[in-house]
Amino acid sequence: MQKKDTHKTICSYCGVGCGIEVSKDAKGILSVKGDEDYPVNKGMLCTKGKTLNYVAQDTKDRILYPEMRWSRNHPMQQVTWDIAFKRAAAVFGSIMEKYGPDSVGLYVSGQCLTEEYYLANKLTKGFLGTNNIDTNSRLCMSSAVVGYKKTVGNDAVPIAYADIELADCFLIAGANPAWCHPILFRRIEKHKEQNPKVKLIVVDPRKTQTCALADLHLQILPGTDVILFNAMARWLIEKKKIDKSFIQKHTSNFEACKQMAFELSIRKAAEKCGITTEEIRKAAKMISDAKGFISMWTMGLNQSVIGVDKNVSLLNLSLLTGQIGKPGSGPFSLTGQPNAMGGREVGGMASLLAAHRDLGNPRHREEVRQFWGGKEINGEPGLTATEMFDALESGKMKAIWIICTNPIVSLPNAKKIEKALEKANFVIVQDISHNSETTKYADLLLPAAGWLEKEGTMTNSERRISYLPKVIDAPGEALPDAEILWRFAQKMGYGGFDYNNVSEVYDEYCLMTKGTNIDISGLSHERLQKEGSFQWPVPSPEHKGTPRLFQDQKYFTANGKVHFNAPRNLYNKSEITTTDFPLVLNTGRVRDQWHTRTKTGKVKRLLTHIPSPFLEMNKVDAYVRNLKEGDIAVVKSRRGNVRVKVKINYDIRERVVFLPMHWGKILNNDFSRANNLTNDIVDPVSKEPDFKYCAVQVEKYKKP
Ligand code: SF4
Repeated sequence: MQKKDTHKTICSYCGVGCGIEVSKDAKGILSVKGDEDYPVNKGMLCTKGKTLNYVAQDTKDRILYPEMRWSRNHPMQQVTWDIAFKRAAAVFGSIMEKYGPDSVGLYVSGQCLTEEYYLANKLTKGFLGTNNIDTNSRLCMSSAVVGYKKTVGNDAVPIAYADIELADCFLIAGANPAWCHPILFRRIEKHKEQNPKVKLIVVDPRKTQTCALADLHLQILPGTDVILFNAMARWLIEKKKIDKSFIQKHTSNFEACKQMAFELSIRKAAEKCGITTEEIRKAAKMISDAKGFISMWTMGLNQSVIGVDKNVSLLNLSLLTGQIGKPGSGPFSLTGQPNAMGGREVGGMASLLAAHRDLGNPRHREEVRQFWGGKEINGEPGLTATEMFDALESGKMKAIWIICTNPIVSLPNAKKIEKALEKANFVIVQDISHNSETTKYADLLLPAAGWLEKEGTMTNSERRISYLPKVIDAPGEALPDAEILWRFAQKMGYGGFDYNNVSEVYDEYCLMTKGTNIDISGLSHERLQKEGSFQWPVPSPEHKGTPRLFQDQKYFTANGKVHFNAPRNLYNKSEITTTDFPLVLNTGRVRDQWHTRTKTGKVKRLLTHIPSPFLEMNKVDAYVRNLKEGDIAVVKSRRGNVRVKVKINYDIRERVVFLPMHWGKILNNDFSRANNLTNDIVDPVSKEPDFKYCAVQVEKYKKP
């Protein structure tokens, strides 16, 4: 029997970043299984990871050739790559000449590989001459980036998955890892099974699957997280359960944190949060009793108009108890996408510069300019995700290049995004398949190679960098995203893009990190292939990587100390509920779907779990609206409406409803798109949208 051709790679879905073994049989049929040698998952995979082979082999809806239309009245037609590049370069060039470099922008994705992210950033900031490059990662973790920068001095996750097995108390806030980071959650579950004294506190307005494992579920009212964390801080300070020596030696700004914590009594805070004082005391005591305390969070904290405040008030709890920079402890923001972290490292956001350099620092900008040999870099942040689409709608921005993301379904206030793309003079969409609703708005459609069809690297939530090999050929004329970017840059006449392969791009990026906090100058594709994955920094070819940061208690801040931050807002600044819109809508994920379903929607097995969208609502709210399980309801907000089946229980608080964010157009050709409803207001610092809180009304659907 012929031996199978086997390759080790990484899952292309969530930020846990599980290792996968892909095998190709003699007929070219792919199969996948968990990589038993990979430290993250040790052979385990969740339902999404287990079915990735079907996605990789399904070429039904793939974009096979570049397609273009000469005007909006013309149909798309197949063109050669040469014509596609000429057209893209000519249109971008003429728009920039007429309206200036800030009239164009790139909107990329946390699913891009690090090399692609690096090139998109180099092209935009270094050569197009604008900082208008942002990413869909803005929608999931930019509040965490700001929180870390304010606290440890840079965007640096201090901790590793290996710390899970060393901790004895977990606080999971605004996250449902049982569904959204399943393999990571399995590690917590196993650790708890083996060590019954390990405590788990979950903070969530919904009773999710994660709560099934919780010792304490704090079912707070939406938007009250800062009040809760401050109340816990107050209890720790009042009961003298803080680590005074740690605070004195290694932290700054404790008094400001204390002052904020004492703004409300614990009784008042409990009232505001809709829980009991006893629950707050119990949670704070569990933390203070722990030898190793880990906090974990995702979108429930980040996707908020006060997302940064939620982050810093949670981070303060680790500082108060001295639970950072030591085994089994630390604040751990989980990334939603497989390479959100890699994108942060190369500066793939409008407010960041490559290799964790500071966009606002003239010396850093000059270092980058000299390294790239490009134009002077503007010190002002570019337009962020929502701002770019606002600028297209207002006419300030004329052209956008969208890579590997589906903003028509994923951005808030989606009708506005449709209008913005209709108004744009020129839209390039670069993606793998026509499944993305955004492709319909393209003037130029570029076929990209997908997972297994190109090589490169990704960084998971614990700063672990892994190499992904090319295993199969891309269909049709699809090209790796990195090659598309460097060939466009060549067509524009820019120097420094004469790469022969992706490995050269990576070498350039690694060299650029030398001497920075994120130094990976000891890495190369060759080393990653030979020796496996590494956690940054890896500053020399002999260095073995850094699982845990700040063990020497030297932080990346100017004074070397870890910094307490007083949240600026105790209270949520989201849209206010009224009698017309009395309920709070919370949006999120379900277990077996991923983002806008362009990949998971193709896998029949993944539809057996939850086949269609639903609105989760409390029995009391359903009763007063005469709604029964399975009835169709109309959900209305100030921006739009959706029609969806209702799912009724007591797991969600009264006056709160939940709608998954994955679905676009499905029900009777009407949109069941959650983002018809959501609000596009953002956190003023992180610019992350307020996906978790908008005012809605729900009514029983009546056939016209
Ligand atoms: Fe993939 Fe995340 Fe599932 Fe692991 S937990 S298999 S990375 S989707």
